Amino acid sequence: MDLLEHQGKSYFARFAIPVSTGGVAATVEEALDVADGAGYPVVVKAQVHVGGRGKAGGVRVVADRAEAEAAATAILGMSIKGHVVHTVLVEHATDIAEEYYASFTLDRAAKLHLGMLSAEGGVDIEQVAVDTPGAIARLPIDPVDGLSEALCRVWVAGAGLREEAVAGTVELLLALYRCFVEGDADLAEVNPLVLTTDGRVLALDAKVTLDDNAAFRHPEWKEYEGTQELDERERLAREKGLQYIGLDGSVGIIANGAGLAMSTLDVVNQAGGRPANFLDIGGGASAAVMANALEVINTDENVRAIFVNVFGGITRGEEVAKGIVEAMGRVELTSPLVVRLDGTNAAEGRAILARHESDRLQSRATMLDAARAAVELAGGGKG
Ligand code: GDP
Ligand code: MN
Repeated sequence: MDLLEHQGKSYFARFAIPVSTGGVAATVEEALDVADGAGYPVVVKAQVHVGGRGKAGGVRVVADRAEAEAAATAILGMSIKGHVVHTVLVEHATDIAEEYYASFTLDRAAKLHLGMLSAEGGVDIEQVAVDTPGAIARLPIDPVDGLSEALCRVWVAGAGLREEAVAGTVELLLALYRCFVEGDADLAEVNPLVLTTDGRVLALDAKVTLDDNAAFRHPEWKEYEGTQELDERERLAREKGLQYIGLDGSVGIIANGAGLAMSTLDVVNQAGGRPANFLDIGGGASAAVMANALEVINTDENVRAIFVNVFGGITRGEEVAKGIVEAMGRVELTSPLVVRLDGTNAAEGRAILARHESDRLQSRATMLDAARAAVELAGGGKG
């Protein structure tokens, strides 16, 4: 779950990470109230789930009330990369001496936490990584050991920050690491992390991604749900209790079990196609569940073919086949189906599918053959 900047900053504040004073507003009047409270000059910032707001005109530093009114009027309702601005964050503006970059994230391949710190902040860090990779001080952290103060000092010392920023940055990073770990975040990023002209270090932006799998121990995360931007397909899937992740290919995927669903994505890629989604319907494959799955995939305009990959376990092959046939009767599909059925009573299941075979429903004996057939129906290779 991605937090908006103001949500990320209130999350930061719980861990004593210094941020500017201010608040969120949904109307120009509210924005002016917040601005009056924060004290001029203020910065008015669009709250959208996308970066690069500064360049897009969604961040404005203004000197007084009249300018704040003009800025809030301009920013509320504007669209940034397709995201309409419904709220603004209004903060007392900071006098910036230096802009840095700091983040903690997961290095999944190394199974470690990764800290990144750069004196080249405020700009697109992906570009810094490409142009001057040496400008980013990377710190792999063993999650068992965590980030000690000593380690943090060595790391910060190697990042080339201005001397007067060092102590404050060490303190901020230790708090940010606690926020990342205890706060169950997958990403805690501050860009820019600033040194102010009066020598303070604070987080001027906040990008926080919370680990949805930890939501069970954070009842307080409920407050963020209203502002999440779910893909329409993902919204429908959630409503139907399906494990679904939208992708951008043309082959819709339905599989039982997360492992099989992931293998199905791989095999579609191997056959030269691109998956439209990940969808795990779990152990069973009843007509009701299958119909729900087909309905979700049917709302995806990019889908040209659907690959159903089911391994019969406790749910026997003939039940699965009947479920598929019945579900096809319930949902008017825009794309043809290719089914690979294996496992318990696969033969009985395939016999049922064979009786219903048509150009809308085909069956293949292996995963790879089924993937090839689905990719071909979807219009062939990648492109
Ligand atoms: P982003 O463009 O979406 O990443 O939005 P940021 O929150 O990072 O803001 C973009 C830029 O606006 C920052 O890099 C700063 O240069 C500038 N900015 C943001 N807040 C302030 C502030 O309080 N004072 C000043 N002077 N500039 C600010
Ligand atoms: Mn930023």
